[in-house]
Amino acid sequence: MPSPRYWREIPSRYRLEATRCGDCGRVSYPPRRICPECRSTDGETIELSHEGRVLTYTVVHVPPDDFLMEAPYALAVVETPEGARMMVQVADCDPASVEAGMMVALEFRLIRREGKGGILCYGYKAVPAYPMGGEAEAELRSKESEVAHA
Ligand SMILES: [Zn+2]
Repeated sequence: MPSPRYWREIPSRYRLEATRCGDCGRVSYPPRRICPECRSTDGETIELSHEGRVLTYTVVHVPPDDFLMEAPYALAVVETPEGARMMVQVADCDPASVEAGMMVALEFRLIRREGKGGILCYGYKAVPAYPMGGEAEAELRSKESEVAHA
């Protein structure tokens, strides 16, 4: 069974909230009352962009039993524009196509099933921001700039 803490955290998980330290500016995800950098308690809650960039990743070949994801899949550390870092699964693509620097969108999805009762747990997954690959991405970018200059 998911713990009471799991249920209590659902609203902030869904909104993808983090805390930004009022003293040193460090962004923590998940939110923390005490800044891990400077121990300040002067933090504000911010909502993160649902996008980010892959910093590092690893390919998982043997997932935990309750994960609703077929192995192999990529597990990446994604950094949002606000500077928050999170470990997320990368969905909707070949794990071999994941690379550092890749842009991803963060989507709220079903992640796993806990226990025999099959309680469903949701969380964020990363999906490639340009899932079609190199050439299509370049084309999309040129269309975007056409629109921007229209
Ligand atoms: Zn701080």
